[in-house]
Amino acid sequence: MTGARMIGFGRRAKYGLIETDRDDVMIFHLGMSGRWRIDPSEIGTHDHLILETDEGRVLALCDPRRFGSVDLVRHEALADFPAFRALGPEPLGDDFTAGYLARAIAGRAAPIKALLLDQRIVAGLGNIYVCEALNMAGIEPARAGGKIAKARLARLVDAIREVLTSAISAGGSTLRDYARPDGELGYFSKQWRVYGREGETCSCGTVILRRPEGGRSTFFCPKCQR
Ligand SMILES: [Zn+2]
Repeated sequence: MTGARMIGFGRRAKYGLIETDRDDVMIFHLGMSGRWRIDPSEIGTHDHLILETDEGRVLALCDPRRFGSVDLVRHEALADFPAFRALGPEPLGDDFTAGYLARAIAGRAAPIKALLLDQRIVAGLGNIYVCEALNMAGIEPARAGGKIAKARLARLVDAIREVLTSAISAGGSTLRDYARPDGELGYFSKQWRVYGREGETCSCGTVILRRPEGGRSTFFCPKCQR
């Protein structure tokens, strides 16, 4: 990056993209709790990459858990980047429709939740948003994806867009130690419908359940979601 000018910023799935004037693209992933810090007062042991601009501004990529990544690839090779090669459409893009989703999961016996978390089917959806969207669409997360009627998939696509759009406008979500680059807390304080609410009551009065699955959990309402 030495001597390069940053000329554009973008995103694909859960990766951030920084375009340079040398036809390189820096691809970064923040992992679980990585973040960029702008002009940090001091550089810490968790700042694994530091960029300095001509104006003396400092960007530090702080990643305490080291689940993140940084790559520099040629612009023309972007589509061949391993994580991008088989990615499905962006959930907020025009290609992600009920028709597309129906074709993508036709005949699949896997739970709809697992299918939505599969980045080859739709890019960039994480556990929180999938739990919330399935609740909003009234779909039981364990239901076989290929058996869900298209009208319900249409509701699901709308729910995914709504959940993501409202999270973005609220400033993001994820873990409690999330912070914006300027150091202000940006934690999405919105009350989730089901996520993290095991034992509390759904708006229908039924107790929200949690189903553990390996490292993550599914939260759902057994009455609203069929
Ligand atoms: Zn309910």
